[in-house]
Amino acid sequence: MLADAPPIHAQVIGHSVRHRALRLVRVGAETPGAHAVRVLVVGCVHGTERAGLPVVQALRRATPPAGVQLLLLDAANPDGCARGTRGNARGVDLNRNFPWGWRRQGGIYASGSGPASEPETKAIMSLIRRERPRVTIWFHQHMDLVDRTRGSDPAIIARYARTARMRVRTLPRLPGTATRWQEHVRPSSTAFVVELPAGTLSRAAVRRHVAAVQAVVGAVAGASAPSTTGASTRSAVSPRQPRFAKPGPWLTFASPGMCRRGVRPATSSARPKRSSSPDDADHTGPAACSIASRTSSENSRRTWRSTSKPVQLTTKS
Ligand SMILES: [Zn+2]
Repeated sequence: MLADAPPIHAQVIGHSVRHRALRLVRVGAETPGAHAVRVLVVGCVHGTERAGLPVVQALRRATPPAGVQLLLLDAANPDGCARGTRGNARGVDLNRNFPWGWRRQGGIYASGSGPASEPETKAIMSLIRRERPRVTIWFHQHMDLVDRTRGSDPAIIARYARTARMRVRTLPRLPGTATRWQEHVRPSSTAFVVELPAGTLSRAAVRRHVAAVQAVVGAVAGASAPSTTGASTRSAVSPRQPRFAKPGPWLTFASPGMCRRGVRPATSSARPKRSSSPDDADHTGPAACSIASRTSSENSRRTWRSTSKPVQLTTKS
């Protein structure tokens, strides 16, 4: 129903080394007289880790609660995500290029010629400074866990993990990462990494992660609602809330294929593989999808099944 479709606004927030646009999709209306709470979701930072793209693309068809906007950035690294390389076109690992804790590194973790040396990093920093997202979710692969990032609201992270049926671990702090910089410049916000499993996500897994984002958005919306108790809203999720959040009425799905081209819908033959390297996931193709029309034909209430399996904490992407 067109009348029910959420306001969607696309904008270019910067360009890559090869002049590819960093495209941001904003979903949800601004609350009159108030600044909407933002939840930023980033689908692809390392071009070898693109499993989060269908999740971000499905979220374009979400309708957030009043007062909350979803900011959806398919590709923070358009060159790498299009070419299937971890780094950008200069071979820089953007998740080592942020200025807080930056350290010169080489190889696959090449951190650039200096802090925030890359145009993609600068564009993302400007976006975050401008929009001040309350929560930022960064999709990576392949460790199959949610990183309990220091300085973040543990209840938000637990909420995501429970809904997505993933385990939570605290990974080592690494130099020059986006979340570490966000922790420094926006200590009251929550920014965390979801390490998806290797390979592509099944449709059920995509729905589970969309529901997990939805659960986070719902928690943020609840925490942002006017309170008469004067209680702190730093922790957005009450420990007494249900163990597993269910999809609310504000989210429906369009086509099962999620996008017309680019990201291949996962099939039962797309068998995830385990690895100790962040760079050997199978690749899905160019990160280019069009915004699908919004329908209510797909049901979002199918039973979720856990896909989490133990993996070794040998590396962090
Ligand atoms: Zn990564």
